[in-house]
Amino acid sequence: MTTLAKTKPKLALYWAASCGGCEIAVHDIKEKILDVDAAFEIVFWPVAVDFKVKDVEALEDGEIDLCLFNGAIRNSDNEYMAGLLRRKAKILVAFGSCACDGCIPALSNTTSRAATFDWVYRDSPSTVNPDDVRPQEETEVPVGTLRLPTFWERVCTLGQVVDVDYFVPGCPPQAHQIWAVLEAVIDILEHGKPLPPRGSVLGAGDRTCCDECPRTREEKKISRFVRPHEIIADPTKCLLDQGIVCMGPATRSGCGALCVSVGMPCRGCYGPAPNSKDQGTKMISALASVIDSNDPDEIDRILGGIVDPVGTFYRFSMASATPAGLSRLAGRDREALQERTS
Ligand code: SF4
Ligand code: SF4
Repeated sequence: MTTLAKTKPKLALYWAASCGGCEIAVHDIKEKILDVDAAFEIVFWPVAVDFKVKDVEALEDGEIDLCLFNGAIRNSDNEYMAGLLRRKAKILVAFGSCACDGCIPALSNTTSRAATFDWVYRDSPSTVNPDDVRPQEETEVPVGTLRLPTFWERVCTLGQVVDVDYFVPGCPPQAHQIWAVLEAVIDILEHGKPLPPRGSVLGAGDRTCCDECPRTREEKKISRFVRPHEIIADPTKCLLDQGIVCMGPATRSGCGALCVSVGMPCRGCYGPAPNSKDQGTKMISALASVIDSNDPDEIDRILGGIVDPVGTFYRFSMASATPAGLSRLAGRDREALQERTS
């Protein structure tokens, strides 16, 4: 059973493979950040405070009470930090979409590490690299050996690499939800309240984005998909009813239907809906039931109107929709396995 500190609890935040938006979102709680500072001793937060990895390594195992870990696991450094913070933290939280489901970095799971490097260092229109210089994991320089992390073949979620206690979805998690989670943790730590069941999703709802959407839904019959800029959508009616692909039916509630409230379709950042592991399949299944045709050619034509299906259906959940066993065969693990079996 987890035993929590009686003195001021220790808090760590970390940023692995992500854009950093989750860390900025923590600052979005504004003056409440002072309450966080009053309630916790911050022991690691590279984006805001000058602690080093060796400071974390020097802590006792389990000495950190709460770690909010944002970012997916894309390289050996991310993996090391995930393992280190798992050991040092009593409560490890996958914080934000990248840690929970892979998010944008995991879209690269549709291709290989080699193809990614070819694009970035050779083929992209913005690349100027006539000598085809590629990152080397070790480079000898006069002062010693410079090392870069190993870039993995696949992007994993935090939970595919280490055990995770709780999940806080969102790209980024909304400020009111971040504060709700922190306030609940402070309450637990100060008043000894029981922890939520391990594995719980915190800072989100237990329904779908559609359930919090203010727009009016009718029986759907879609004969054409359109992009938001192609029509002037009725501001009161369901966007999907109007042919705009909206991930609301397949997405967990919690953001307050933020995007749809201002006229943009939900892109799915709160991750798979409750009781669903594969957000894309759930959405495809939802669409399959509303296509207004029984003719296979016509169905193909209608579905062909969805631009970038993979990026639409799996924008935030490609890694969590990938079997964990496959994701674990990442980077060198996978190469080693291939060598052993070839
Ligand atoms: S599909 Fe989108 S617009 Fe329609 S009800 Fe659901 S969240 Fe709202
Ligand atoms: S409406 Fe969808 S994409 Fe927008 S914040 Fe909410 S869950 Fe994320």
